[in-house]
Amino acid sequence: MLGERAIVAGAGIGGLIAAGVLKDFFAEVVVLEKDALPPQPQQRKGVPQDGQIHVVLKGGDNAFEDVFPGFREALAAAGAAPLEFGKDIHAYEGGRVHSPRSTGIVVHSQTRPVFEFAIRSLLSRMQNVRLLDRTRLLAIQCDPNGAVSRVKFKRGDGEPEILEADLLIEALGRGGYTARWLDKDHGREVPFTELGIDLVYTSALLHRTPPWRGRNYGWIVRPSAPHDTKSGVLIPVEGDRWIMTLSGRFGEVPPEDPAGFMAYAGRLACTDLHDVAREAEFATPITSYRIPRMIWRHYDRVPDFPGRLIPLGDTIAGFNPLAAQGMSMAALQALALRDCLRDASRTGLDGAVGAYMAKAMAIAADAWSLGELIDFAYPQARGVRPDDLAQRLAERTAVFKLAAGDAEVRGLIFEVQNMLRPPSALQQPDLLARADALS
Ligand SMILES: Cc1cc2nc3c(=O)[nH]c(=O)nc-3n(C[C@H](O)[C@H](O)[C@H](O)COP(=O)(O)OP(=O)(O)OC[C@H]3O[C@@H](n4cnc5c(N)ncnc54)[C@H](O)[C@@H]3O)c2cc1C
Repeated sequence: MLGERAIVAGAGIGGLIAAGVLKDFFAEVVVLEKDALPPQPQQRKGVPQDGQIHVVLKGGDNAFEDVFPGFREALAAAGAAPLEFGKDIHAYEGGRVHSPRSTGIVVHSQTRPVFEFAIRSLLSRMQNVRLLDRTRLLAIQCDPNGAVSRVKFKRGDGEPEILEADLLIEALGRGGYTARWLDKDHGREVPFTELGIDLVYTSALLHRTPPWRGRNYGWIVRPSAPHDTKSGVLIPVEGDRWIMTLSGRFGEVPPEDPAGFMAYAGRLACTDLHDVAREAEFATPITSYRIPRMIWRHYDRVPDFPGRLIPLGDTIAGFNPLAAQGMSMAALQALALRDCLRDASRTGLDGAVGAYMAKAMAIAADAWSLGELIDFAYPQARGVRPDDLAQRLAERTAVFKLAAGDAEVRGLIFEVQNMLRPPSALQQPDLLARADALS
């Protein structure tokens, strides 16, 4: 044991998996969550994005199974649909439909509330973890050396309380609580990179039509930059339903009325998805979520960053959800935290915290570098374009072209997109030479 108590602020995806990791290192792990956590899968206020599609990439899926053995079984029992990338998803990308091929990369598809509920249930079996819902973090307090030592919180309508902590994980989501706290209470600005993506997601659940009941198959239409700004996904989820998510950017907004929503699907670059779903009955209302920007907060560049404080998940970086990286990034950061804590007998807890920050930022950097290639392909995307952007975009186009006739390269792309390998795997000199020769 490295200490008496670790506190995790936020019971979203990052907070839950962080708690699953910490239980092996602290006598007690306390998770503070402001929402009332429902006793069944249900959308909730603190996660306003949870009505939208939430795909767990294979890198994340592996991490969740590692921390919560039985995770895949729990999802399957909740009715999640297994899907093999490449084989069970009809993919339109780069202006054409890709022929199906097996990749062996199987993930489960379900709504976000089912996913979160499954992890929460697995966490609730861990003896030394206490999950306090309706409990809002109010303040972080430091000792005279500038290390986090206590938090102030409030349960329901009760009086504020104080709890001491040997380690605090801040997993409060996109708003960047730590950055706001450092700015407001300590006058220290956290440097950040942002990229204006002006994206709107619009989703609904549909009852699968009779030919597709009990069948696990999905459709995805990815837009070709820079002219096409519309995309769509239709994938199976629990309850023999589909989730259909349409997105638009830079002023293109999918309508929220059923007729307009379906008509928008019919205007995608490939209409197969619309043709499959157009007769389906809506199981839920249609809801939208706007994502004006991606943001990456460089906590590692803050001089004298408070000790014993671990930001994790969206508080570090919030991405363009089209690449579906957010939950997997949080999960990989939780595994990085575990590695660092395992080393703490050598480095001490403070050393482990420092080592984590470097690893967490490297994970965010990999995810960001993939995401910015998608977004900066649009001239309307706002942000500082990296010097090597044109070269990386050209390399990406050439490698994707090579992949059209090369199953191995296509498999490699799937692995990178699933966060099983770093983006640098697509920049190996021999691969680029082969791609270059073809273009
Ligand atoms: C439209 C959209 C679609 C997405 N699709 C995907 C996808 O397909 N795949 C993917 O991997 N990711 C996707 N994401 C990203 C994903 O939602 C996030 O990456 C993920 O939820 C991050 O987890 P987190 O724990 O950092 O934050 P969250 O899951 O947002 O959790 C933060 C938690 O903190 C709680 N909280 C906030 N303030 C307080 C407080 N003061 N005290 C106590 N509790 C508090 C909240 O109630 C919440 O429970 C999508 C995001 C959006 C916006």
